[in-house]
Amino acid sequence: MLVLTRELMRRLCAHLEAGYPREACGMLIGNMNGAPPHMHKIARDVYLAPNVWSVENEHEGQRNRYLIAPDDYVRADSEATRRGLDIIGFFHSHPDHPARPSETDREYALPVISFVIVSVQQGRAGDVRSWVLRDDRSAFDEEPLTVIDGTVPAALR
Ligand SMILES: [Zn+2]
Repeated sequence: MLVLTRELMRRLCAHLEAGYPREACGMLIGNMNGAPPHMHKIARDVYLAPNVWSVENEHEGQRNRYLIAPDDYVRADSEATRRGLDIIGFFHSHPDHPARPSETDREYALPVISFVIVSVQQGRAGDVRSWVLRDDRSAFDEEPLTVIDGTVPAALR
């Protein structure tokens, strides 16, 4: 299960809407408790990253690809470490497409952490779903996503 506050969800969606009609992306910083498949991930912050796909791959369209620069990953990771947290997931948009992982998403995914996909239809964030890669990398399984108001309850910390 992945838990996000409404405020984090708002910031995440605003970033992805701003990137429309291109894919936009970022990372979730927080805590992971327990072991798969009964893992609880609590997001504490979002790292809004630029999609650098067009810069590094000018011959291909950015619309349906995203790439987080290694520098941004390192920055998010050290920010997380400084706060005693981890990178618990990645998020990206699917402009005018459903919030389901593509074949490319599966190829580049990592196990354990969450892959949140937001369907951005005509510039508006819609369906939000979270996915976790199977250990054998054969497919993603959907992970329950809970959005809560206010602060994270003590029971989930
Ligand atoms: Zn994707």
